[in-house]
Amino acid sequence: MQLLQSFTFDLMQEDDFEEVVFFQDKNTGLKAIVAIHSTILGPALGGTRFWEYETELDALKDAMRLAKAMTMKAAGAGLNLGGGKAVIIGNPKIKDEALLRVYGRFIQSLGGRYITAEDVGTTLDDIRIIAEETKFVTGVKLDPSPFTAYGVFHGIKACLDHVFGDSSLDGVRVAVQGLGKVGGELVRLLLEAGAEVIVTDIDEEKIGEFKERFREIEIVEPSEIFSVKCDVFSPCALGGVINDATIKMLNCKIIAGGANNQLESDKHGDILARKGILYAPDYIINAGGLIAVCREYEGITDKEKLLKEIEKIGERLKKIFRMSEEMAKTTRHYSTARAADAFAMERIEKIRYLKRIYQPSL
Ligand code: NAD
Repeated sequence: MQLLQSFTFDLMQEDDFEEVVFFQDKNTGLKAIVAIHSTILGPALGGTRFWEYETELDALKDAMRLAKAMTMKAAGAGLNLGGGKAVIIGNPKIKDEALLRVYGRFIQSLGGRYITAEDVGTTLDDIRIIAEETKFVTGVKLDPSPFTAYGVFHGIKACLDHVFGDSSLDGVRVAVQGLGKVGGELVRLLLEAGAEVIVTDIDEEKIGEFKERFREIEIVEPSEIFSVKCDVFSPCALGGVINDATIKMLNCKIIAGGANNQLESDKHGDILARKGILYAPDYIINAGGLIAVCREYEGITDKEKLLKEIEKIGERLKKIFRMSEEMAKTTRHYSTARAADAFAMERIEKIRYLKRIYQPSL
């Protein structure tokens, strides 16, 4: 235990984490970790992942990695939210009401420093049960995925405008990897806007369903999607898809998709920049769902208003593309991904600075 503790502090110090909390309940078998990376901008928001981790250390590292990413995403999206994430260790197929409710009670005990939502392994029904014990939950009324897809769609338009001077999707070839909650809705929006869409998924059933629904789509094998000749490659499945092996295969002008952590490392962003492939930084383009759940938490559920706000992802991307072009004048290590990090960090630092001024409670 002492070893894990000192190791946890090392990990926390490495990325300047504020707080990591371990919860257990013998009665229900609950084992949960909440990682709060930063609350400089506001309460830390991030989903609860329910996963059968091989070791407790894997669970801890995953929670921390994801929490840090949420800090950047919220900052980049212009939200007054910090970054946090929770993991519950266990088989997501074996959950019971008591376990979720006891988890909800623990979340409540954090007094709102952490706000939870749905994530891999948790469902809307689970979140509703958790919400019986805590008010620090969001994503209960709105499903974030269609909002994420809508943001990706507008991000793609901004990329087209930046590269071709025209944001129209008419006749534009877009290759979409993954037909899940985000990719599936994106395909619908793209087709509606007149794009030629090429898709892939490892799930045969999904492929069959989409073939039936949209007869005009072209289908390729999962391994072929990287080399498809297209204007836009849109990763909407897994992380790490832009790596040493795939980067050589790309036959596109733009990479713009909903998946998290698309670049295997910073180096791959630099290579894309040198190759002249425009990369829309993942946490900027896929922030639509986060924007929606943040506004839901604040009591705003007017869909039209939300969509207008999410459309601004396009303007944000264009600003980041210009920042990256400026960076290129002074350093060899430039990319749109690095520009996005600078954009998000700049906001955090500016707000951190203004918070030094004493403010009586609002
Ligand atoms: P999902 O599980 O609904 O869909 C993922 C799809 O990808 C599935 O259909 C799966 O079969 C397919 N897939 C998996 N591996 C594949 C492969 N190698 N090749 C082709 N297809 C493959 O997930 P989702 O909610 O649509 O999320 C997709 C991505 O977007 C994830 O990286 C997620 O973290 C990210 N994301 C989602 C949201 C959201 O609102 N749902 C928000 C931000 C980021």
